[in-house]
Amino acid sequence: MLPIERQHKIKELLHKHHTMKISELSKELGVSEMTIHRDLNPLIDDGAVIKTFGGVSIAQKQNEHKPDTKDCIFCGRTTNDRLAYRLILTNNRKETACCAHCGLLRHRQLGDDVVQAICPDFFRQTTLSAQLVFYVMDASVDVGCCHPQVLTFERREDADKFVTGFGGTIYHFAEAQETIFQKMNGHEGCSNSHH
Ligand SMILES: [Zn+2]
Ligand SMILES: [Zn+2]
Repeated sequence: MLPIERQHKIKELLHKHHTMKISELSKELGVSEMTIHRDLNPLIDDGAVIKTFGGVSIAQKQNEHKPDTKDCIFCGRTTNDRLAYRLILTNNRKETACCAHCGLLRHRQLGDDVVQAICPDFFRQTTLSAQLVFYVMDASVDVGCCHPQVLTFERREDADKFVTGFGGTIYHFAEAQETIFQKMNGHEGCSNSHH
Protein backbone atom coordinates (compact mmCIF):
# COMPACT_ATOMS: atom_id res chain seq x y z
CA MET A 1 0.00 0.00 0.00
CA LEU A 2 1.28 3.49 -0.81
CA PRO A 3 1.71 6.03 2.03
CA ILE A 4 -1.13 8.10 0.59
CA GLU A 5 -3.42 5.04 0.61
CA ARG A 6 -2.45 4.26 4.18
CA GLN A 7 -3.13 7.85 5.21
CA HIS A 8 -6.57 7.59 3.65
CA LYS A 9 -7.14 4.32 5.50
CA ILE A 10 -5.90 5.84 8.78
CA LYS A 11 -8.42 8.67 8.46
CA GLU A 12 -11.18 6.16 7.74
CA LEU A 13 -10.26 4.11 10.79
CA LEU A 14 -10.12 7.20 12.98
CA HIS A 15 -13.52 8.32 11.76
CA LYS A 16 -14.87 4.94 12.80
CA HIS A 17 -13.07 4.52 16.13
CA HIS A 18 -12.54 8.21 16.94
CA THR A 19 -9.32 7.58 18.89
CA MET A 20 -6.73 4.87 18.26
CA LYS A 21 -3.37 3.89 19.60
CA ILE A 22 -0.35 3.80 17.28
CA SER A 23 -0.03 0.08 18.02
CA GLU A 24 -3.64 -0.53 16.94
CA LEU A 25 -3.09 1.33 13.66
CA SER A 26 0.10 -0.60 13.10
CA LYS A 27 -1.71 -3.92 13.60
CA GLU A 28 -4.71 -2.88 11.53
CA LEU A 29 -2.58 -1.80 8.54
CA GLY A 30 0.12 -4.44 8.88
CA VAL A 31 3.04 -1.99 8.96
CA SER A 32 5.49 -0.97 11.69
CA GLU A 33 4.71 1.71 14.27
CA MET A 34 7.57 3.72 12.76
CA THR A 35 5.76 3.71 9.42
CA ILE A 36 2.52 4.77 11.12
CA HIS A 37 4.34 7.69 12.74
CA ARG A 38 5.72 8.72 9.34
CA ASP A 39 2.26 8.49 7.79
CA LEU A 40 0.75 10.50 10.61
CA ASN A 41 3.19 13.42 10.62
CA PRO A 42 1.78 15.22 7.55
CA LEU A 43 -1.78 14.55 8.76
CA ILE A 44 -0.94 16.09 12.13
CA ASP A 45 0.82 19.02 10.45
CA ASP A 46 -2.21 19.96 8.41
CA GLY A 47 -4.59 19.53 11.29
CA ALA A 48 -6.54 16.50 10.03
CA VAL A 49 -5.35 14.36 12.92
CA ILE A 50 -4.75 15.27 16.55
CA LYS A 51 -2.14 13.78 18.85
CA THR A 52 -3.75 12.59 22.04
CA PHE A 53 -2.65 10.85 25.21
CA GLY A 54 -1.19 7.60 23.95
CA GLY A 55 -2.61 7.77 20.42
CA VAL A 56 -4.26 9.87 17.75
CA SER A 57 -7.77 10.96 16.89
CA ILE A 58 -9.48 12.64 13.99
CA ALA A 59 -9.91 16.42 14.07
CA GLN A 60 -13.55 17.34 14.51
CA LYS A 61 -13.53 20.71 12.83
CA GLN A 62 -12.46 19.34 9.43
CA ASN A 63 -16.06 18.26 8.92
CA GLU A 64 -17.55 21.66 9.59
CA HIS A 65 -17.35 24.12 6.76
CA LYS A 66 -19.18 26.97 8.41
CA PRO A 67 -17.04 29.94 9.40
CA ASP A 68 -16.03 29.91 13.03
CA THR A 69 -18.08 32.70 14.52
CA LYS A 70 -19.05 30.93 17.72
CA ASP A 71 -18.89 32.82 20.98
CA CYS A 72 -16.84 31.63 23.91
CA ILE A 73 -18.84 29.35 26.21
CA PHE A 74 -17.20 30.93 29.22
CA CYS A 75 -16.91 34.69 28.61
CA GLY A 76 -18.98 35.30 25.46
CA ARG A 77 -16.09 36.74 23.42
CA THR A 78 -15.94 35.84 19.72
CA THR A 79 -13.64 32.84 19.30
CA ASN A 80 -10.95 32.46 16.67
CA ASP A 81 -9.15 29.31 15.53
CA ARG A 82 -5.73 30.62 16.40
CA LEU A 83 -6.42 30.58 20.15
CA ALA A 84 -9.59 28.53 20.60
CA TYR A 85 -9.69 25.77 23.20
CA ARG A 86 -12.26 23.13 22.25
CA LEU A 87 -13.99 20.73 24.57
CA ILE A 88 -15.49 17.50 23.32
CA LEU A 89 -17.99 16.27 25.89
CA THR A 90 -19.96 13.14 26.57
CA ASN A 91 -23.02 12.58 24.32
CA ASN A 92 -21.23 14.24 21.39
CA ARG A 93 -21.64 17.71 22.79
CA LYS A 94 -19.00 20.28 21.93
CA GLU A 95 -18.01 23.60 23.39
CA THR A 96 -15.55 26.23 22.27
CA ALA A 97 -13.71 28.64 24.52
CA CYS A 98 -11.99 31.75 23.11
CA CYS A 99 -8.57 30.83 24.51
CA ALA A 100 -6.83 28.54 26.99
CA HIS A 101 -7.68 30.95 29.80
CA CYS A 102 -11.41 30.30 29.43
CA GLY A 103 -10.83 26.75 28.21
CA LEU A 104 -8.98 25.66 31.34
CA LEU A 105 -11.56 27.24 33.62
CA ARG A 106 -14.45 25.67 31.73
CA HIS A 107 -12.64 22.32 31.59
CA ARG A 108 -12.23 22.47 35.39
CA GLN A 109 -15.96 23.15 35.83
CA LEU A 110 -16.99 20.24 33.61
CA GLY A 111 -14.52 17.72 35.03
CA ASP A 112 -15.35 14.17 33.94
CA ASP A 113 -17.83 15.39 31.33
CA VAL A 114 -14.86 16.23 29.12
CA VAL A 115 -13.95 13.40 26.76
CA GLN A 116 -11.21 15.38 25.08
CA ALA A 117 -9.90 18.93 25.04
CA ILE A 118 -7.85 20.34 22.18
CA CYS A 119 -6.03 23.58 21.56
CA PRO A 120 -3.67 25.02 18.93
CA ASP A 121 0.07 25.47 19.10
CA PHE A 122 0.70 29.22 19.23
CA PHE A 123 3.55 29.06 16.67
CA ARG A 124 2.45 26.29 14.33
CA GLN A 125 -0.97 25.38 12.97
CA THR A 126 -1.15 22.02 14.71
CA THR A 127 -4.00 21.06 17.01
CA LEU A 128 -3.06 19.24 20.18
CA SER A 129 -4.52 17.51 23.15
CA ALA A 130 -4.76 20.03 25.99
CA GLN A 131 -3.16 17.55 28.37
CA LEU A 132 0.05 17.48 26.33
CA VAL A 133 0.80 21.14 25.68
CA PHE A 134 2.87 23.64 27.64
CA TYR A 135 1.00 26.66 28.96
CA VAL A 136 2.64 30.07 29.13
CA MET A 137 0.96 32.47 31.50
CA ASP A 138 1.50 36.21 32.00
CA ALA A 139 3.71 36.85 28.96
CA SER A 140 4.05 40.55 28.10
CA VAL A 141 2.84 40.25 24.48
CA ASP A 142 -0.87 41.03 24.12
CA VAL A 143 -2.76 38.58 21.89
CA GLY A 144 -6.05 40.39 22.48
CA CYS A 145 -7.94 37.81 24.49
CA CYS A 146 -8.54 37.12 28.17
CA HIS A 147 -6.25 38.17 31.04
CA PRO A 148 -4.21 36.70 32.60
CA GLN A 149 -3.26 35.39 29.16
CA VAL A 150 -2.66 31.70 28.68
CA LEU A 151 -0.87 30.61 25.48
CA THR A 152 -0.32 27.02 24.41
CA PHE A 153 2.77 25.40 22.86
CA GLU A 154 3.40 21.89 21.62
CA ARG A 155 7.14 21.97 22.31
CA ARG A 156 8.90 22.84 25.50
CA GLU A 157 11.68 24.59 23.56
CA ASP A 158 9.17 26.84 21.80
CA ALA A 159 7.62 27.76 25.15
CA ASP A 160 11.13 28.44 26.55
CA LYS A 161 12.01 30.69 23.61
CA PHE A 162 8.74 32.54 23.94
CA VAL A 163 9.29 33.13 27.66
CA THR A 164 12.85 34.33 26.96
CA GLY A 165 11.46 36.95 24.59
CA PHE A 166 8.21 37.92 26.25
CA GLY A 167 8.38 36.77 29.85
CA GLY A 168 5.82 34.62 31.63
CA THR A 169 5.81 31.26 33.33
CA ILE A 170 5.50 27.77 31.84
CA TYR A 171 3.06 25.24 33.29
CA HIS A 172 1.83 21.73 32.55
CA PHE A 173 -1.89 21.11 32.15
CA ALA A 174 -2.92 20.43 35.76
CA GLU A 175 -0.74 23.23 37.19
CA ALA A 176 -2.00 25.66 34.57
CA GLN A 177 -5.60 24.80 35.35
CA GLU A 178 -5.12 25.26 39.11
CA THR A 179 -3.06 28.43 38.69
CA ILE A 180 -5.57 30.17 36.46
CA PHE A 181 -8.37 29.13 38.79
CA GLN A 182 -6.53 30.53 41.83
CA LYS A 183 -5.70 33.76 39.99
CA MET A 184 -9.31 34.27 38.97
CA ASN A 185 -10.78 33.40 42.33
CA GLY A 186 -8.21 35.11 44.53
CA HIS A 187 -8.09 34.13 48.15
CA GLU A 188 -11.45 35.53 49.15
CA GLY A 189 -14.26 33.46 50.47
CA CYS A 190 -14.20 30.34 52.56
CA SER A 191 -10.48 29.59 52.09
CA ASN A 192 -9.67 32.20 54.81
CA SER A 193 -11.51 30.24 57.46
CA HIS A 194 -8.91 27.45 57.34
CA HIS A 195 -6.38 29.51 59.28
ZN1 LIG B 1 -13.57 33.28 26.81
ZN1 LIG C 1 -10.05 34.40 25.81
